[in-house]
Amino acid sequence: MHQKKNDAPRRDIIFSFEFFPPKSEEMEGQLWNAVRDLQDWNPEFVSVTYGAGGTTKAPTLSTVTRFLADTPFATASHLTCVSATKEETHQVIDSFRKAGVTHFVALRGDAPGGVGAPYQPHPGGYANAAELVAGLKQIGDFEISVSAYPEKHPESRDQAADIDMLKRKADNGADRALTQFFFDNDNFERYLEKVRAAGVKIPVVPGIMPIQNLTQLKRFAGACGTVIPAFLDERFAGYDDKPEERAKIAADVAAEQIEDLVRRGLHEFHLYTMNRAPLVSAVLNNLGFSRQTARSAGAAA
Ligand SMILES: Cc1cc2nc3c(=O)[nH]c(=O)nc-3n(C[C@H](O)[C@H](O)[C@H](O)COP(=O)(O)OP(=O)(O)OC[C@H]3O[C@@H](n4cnc5c(N)ncnc54)[C@H](O)[C@@H]3O)c2cc1C
Repeated sequence: MHQKKNDAPRRDIIFSFEFFPPKSEEMEGQLWNAVRDLQDWNPEFVSVTYGAGGTTKAPTLSTVTRFLADTPFATASHLTCVSATKEETHQVIDSFRKAGVTHFVALRGDAPGGVGAPYQPHPGGYANAAELVAGLKQIGDFEISVSAYPEKHPESRDQAADIDMLKRKADNGADRALTQFFFDNDNFERYLEKVRAAGVKIPVVPGIMPIQNLTQLKRFAGACGTVIPAFLDERFAGYDDKPEERAKIAADVAAEQIEDLVRRGLHEFHLYTMNRAPLVSAVLNNLGFSRQTARSAGAAA
């Protein structure tokens, strides 16, 4: 991919990074190495995911607490309301607030049976993310991000139902939506037009997944409802045993996707890091950022 000159700080793009709490000591080392490596990129904020299926809050809370204490990043905590009464959810919110969290990524979450299992709201809990946003707003003046699904949430009846839920989340006080990762920018643009036509005014921030491994991603994408376009197979064909070349293609693909979205008027992006730094850094380099210019753009902002 053609590289831009790095002589002026790039100011037309802002980005955030998503991490997940480590599940082992080895993964713990991997996360904090990645965080150290990504420190100079000056993201708008970072976010830490919340255990799937209503699992314990502890790993997210301890990870978020360390982000707040040891890094310069504005840090958001993801939060789900699955399998919990409202009181239990409020206790969780309170413990995050006490740890210094002011920004939540508010989600319904998946059924405890996993992605695709039928979802049963807890009878005494929040039934969906729109209700959770309203609950958060009653508790405090938090910054709130929510999810959006350009290719439709797998459980949604249709895209109109999906967009209606996004509108409810925005009407209840969400500040921005972060999308599920996608690779089809034409589809995203059509989706965004429908979102705007429905009266949703908050930023809808594309979720960008740099492709560490296309085969693994295909398994995961199916459950999320993300289509893997044929051009990706073509780009990666023949590179299965060539990790260095594969990484270069992955960085090009993600940077090209972002540049194309910038041409379509987008300027904010949420990068799924998978707790690894090199590919994310390569994408930002390809976009014409350098660590130094990212820092000075941040200082000037
Ligand atoms: C940016 C992002 C971050 C995420 N982070 C996490 C995380 O940290 N932890 C985690 O566990 N998961 C996470 N998820 C996954 C998310 O929890 C699942 O996609 C979940 O199934 C829906 O949660 P939601 O907040 O999007 O739901 P909602 O916004 O409440 O609903 C999503 C859509 O599903 C439909 N829907 C909801 N409930 C029903 C129902 N009962 N019947 C039919 N249709 C229904 C609605 O039409 C709606 O449009 C994340 C997803 C995204 C996009």
